Amino acid sequence: MSADNWMHCPRCAQKHTEYRERELRTIKALYGILGPDEYAAAMKRANAIPERPEEPTFKENYDIGMEPDDTFIVAYFGRCTKCSYSHTFNHKEDVPL
Ligand SMILES: [Zn+2]
Repeated sequence: MSADNWMHCPRCAQKHTEYRERELRTIKALYGILGPDEYAAAMKRANAIPERPEEPTFKENYDIGMEPDDTFIVAYFGRCTKCSYSHTFNHKEDVPL
């Protein structure tokens, strides 16, 4: 059985989370420095940043199953179209009949 799937890239998700947290910390550090309306507007903008990237950019291709020559295979390849992070996993073994 082979299949394709799109998911959120783990590396991009980590960078996005770090960016979001940094933005919130930066605004919180300005409490009492900015005027109340300016602070509220800045917090609203920072809180509007989604918790994870909006679009999945990590494409997975995988294949798992028995081959006609009695071997069992697992083949996986995933790659991010945004940051080029990738992961590959291959396994093949003879299956006793
Ligand atoms: Zn990525």
